[in-house]
Amino acid sequence: MAKKKMAKKEKQEFTPGAVVTKPGSSKKYHTGDWRTFRPVINQEKCIKCYLCWQYCPDSAIKIDEKTGKVYVDYTYCKGCLICMHQCPAKAIEKEVEKK
Ligand code: SF4
Ligand code: SF4
Repeated sequence: MAKKKMAKKEKQEFTPGAVVTKPGSSKKYHTGDWRTFRPVINQEKCIKCYLCWQYCPDSAIKIDEKTGKVYVDYTYCKGCLICMHQCPAKAIEKEVEKK
């Protein structure tokens, strides 16, 4: 009986085919919780080319409108390090996440 109830609950949590039914729902999922490595930006080396901003698959690189500096939104950064590999100035380093 309990197994049946649980199966019913699980069905309610996912849409058929995992279809996204509401726009912007990814904001609810804090992908930063998955991270093993965290990218750290060295502002002194950064040349503000914004390649990291363009390549980040989670839109986790932000640009400060006043200063033009880039920074990481660690709530959504999943630690894939694509930004680090794309940075032409080697301004992004990885650190082991300490959570
Ligand atoms: S590590 Fe990945 S998710 Fe995080 S800021 Fe860089 S490109 Fe985006
Ligand atoms: S890719 Fe590197 S140099 Fe370019 S904006 Fe990002 S951190 Fe700065």
